[in-house]
Amino acid sequence: MSENFEAKTLDSLINMPLATIDIKDDCGITDVPQINSKRSNESEWIKSDEVKKRKRKLKDYQPNYFLSIPITNREITGGIKILQNAIIQQDKRLAKAMVTDGSFHITLLVMQLLTEDEVNIGIDALLELKPFVEEILQGKHLILPFQGIDTFGNQVGFVKLAEGDHINTLLEIAETAKYIFQEKGILAGENRSFKPHLTFMKLSKAPWLRKNGIKKIDPELYEKFINHRFGEEMLYRIDLCSMLKKKQNNGYYHCDSSIVIGKKPVGIQDLINEALQRERMGLKSKVKEIKELLLKPETQAKIRRELFEGRLNNYGNKANDGDFSATLT
Ligand code: C5P
Repeated sequence: MSENFEAKTLDSLINMPLATIDIKDDCGITDVPQINSKRSNESEWIKSDEVKKRKRKLKDYQPNYFLSIPITNREITGGIKILQNAIIQQDKRLAKAMVTDGSFHITLLVMQLLTEDEVNIGIDALLELKPFVEEILQGKHLILPFQGIDTFGNQVGFVKLAEGDHINTLLEIAETAKYIFQEKGILAGENRSFKPHLTFMKLSKAPWLRKNGIKKIDPELYEKFINHRFGEEMLYRIDLCSMLKKKQNNGYYHCDSSIVIGKKPVGIQDLINEALQRERMGLKSKVKEIKELLLKPETQAKIRRELFEGRLNNYGNKANDGDFSATLT
């Protein structure tokens, strides 16, 4: 990571909304430290007000977007389908708990983007992330080998990453993404530490299973795959995806933006999409500028003046032509 980035990050760490979360406090809030003991009562009030606001904001923190690394290698997805079918054969009801084909991914970062403006900031942040990822990778490919199975609390079944340096690289990318998004004021990240995982089933997909007595994923269901090698995926794209919007026809999440990493985009389409995204961002910011300009009272006064003068001229011309029906309205 560049010095410049580290300096910026340190700066932003002090101010960003979730920066304190990982450091202290179970509910994710750390009160503002007492830096200046001579602060006036008034500034104490302002600070405590800020803390309250921040706490409220964090209490409402419900991620609805995430950064996704799509997992599309057919060796991996095919292996997962074999695993899923093996589980379903043991208990057909679990079919509804399976992650569907086309949506396999690794979540790099979760975040909350509530408005179109926030989504645009997220799109910007993702574009900003690209050179940092390339700097971390130093021209090398990031190969992600998948091996073995684990669960989160027996509720979420996932394929693990095999041990190796790639995990540290991925952690660094995830951390960098978190800093960049938080630096832009986006509520991003979680209290728990980042654990890369490739989810293949989760009981929460079918809440009625609980009522039918299936409260846990029994380890026996996947024991034959406990050390299975599923294959390798090369990091080639990072997407900004919605958790809630309707999925695409191919089963993958709705993406608002993507970046292509390295020189091996599988399809030229990925590069075209990224270029289009940049164009779109440029246009969006121009439209925003124009909107802001149009809303300024002085611009509106100027427009009114020019319209009025235009009508006056029009009226004058028509009057000269002998058309006296022209009126000023
Ligand atoms: O990121 P993904 O969609 O694969 O996550 C699947 C589930 O795993 C989510 O419901 C998430 O809350 C859960 N999870 C978890 N502990 C983690 C990471 C994810 O329980 N450390």
